[in-house]
Amino acid sequence: MTEDIIRCKKCILPSSYPGIKFDERGICNYCLETQDAKLPSYEELKSKLNNIIQSHSGKGKYDAIVGLSGGKDSSYVAYYLKKEYNLRILGINFDNSYRSDNAIKNLDILSDNLGIDLLTIRPSKTFLHKLFRHFLQKNGEFCSVCNNMGYLLIGSYCLNQQKLQGYAPLAVGGWSKKYEYQPGVSVTSMQYFFNHLTPALLDALISQPFIEEKVVHIFMQLNDPRQTKTYAESGKEFTNLISSFIQLPDYVPWDLNSMPQTLAENLGWVQPPNVHGSHFDCKLFPIKEFLKYKKYRLTQETIKNSVMIREGLMSRSYALKRMSLDQTEEPKFYKDFLQDLGLTTKDINENGEWSR
Ligand SMILES: [Zn+2]
Repeated sequence: MTEDIIRCKKCILPSSYPGIKFDERGICNYCLETQDAKLPSYEELKSKLNNIIQSHSGKGKYDAIVGLSGGKDSSYVAYYLKKEYNLRILGINFDNSYRSDNAIKNLDILSDNLGIDLLTIRPSKTFLHKLFRHFLQKNGEFCSVCNNMGYLLIGSYCLNQQKLQGYAPLAVGGWSKKYEYQPGVSVTSMQYFFNHLTPALLDALISQPFIEEKVVHIFMQLNDPRQTKTYAESGKEFTNLISSFIQLPDYVPWDLNSMPQTLAENLGWVQPPNVHGSHFDCKLFPIKEFLKYKKYRLTQETIKNSVMIREGLMSRSYALKRMSLDQTEEPKFYKDFLQDLGLTTKDINENGEWSR
């Protein structure tokens, strides 16, 4: 690792991070902005969560829908809802045809050991590859496709349930704004996704049998639910139109350190050794990290670990040590992926805007 990069003296964000500024002590604006932040009162939030769960339970065939990838966050959502509330859960798994072996194994473990139903939807490769190809050529990234497909699938399922049984189940996600949202870098925004779709791709999306046109149009008009406070506070429009959609990390402490162990001990859930904890559920994640490193000289893990340092959950020296796991070299799978899409490295727009 070349260390010619200036880093914040408190966290590990580099000078190449979009919008970063350092004060005279060498501490970044992201650290300074959060140093006086008030910690949420989890007691209050938990009682809010109790009310939401209570008002949605026992009405339809399922009490809650959980988008399951087999990764740590979504697995923890299913585990928590079962353990804490014993809900009838349907896990919806979006298969982008690049799920990791670990993810598939964990889905089996979750379904069997929590006794939950699992619905996997695998869109045709032709359709998904069109989207991946488009975003790589236009913007130099491809993760926005799956980030949004998952939400569209769940929204569509909930809408259909509403039509069938007159009641849409509660949808619960494990997206933690604190750890996952990367200002200036994030590729999760729904607005970004829809703003960059061509009319032909939008038509292709709407014509997918598992996607409801109405849901697409609702999502196109909304602020990204993951970036605006919480669904519970700001997502009323969505709530009225389809379903209640909440992110569990908005209500309960989200301890990234203990989660994998809790899941392993209680369910036999597995995480591969010697990798970063995030997103080992997808074979393409190293490619995303590599492209991010090429563009910004940093990885998602650097951003996430910087948050953990600010919260006192990780030491700066340990975070620096963890950087040896960063995907700074081209992943072996990169060429195979491009070949699947009929692209070469020259076709990738490495200067494209990722998100806002
Ligand atoms: Zn900092």
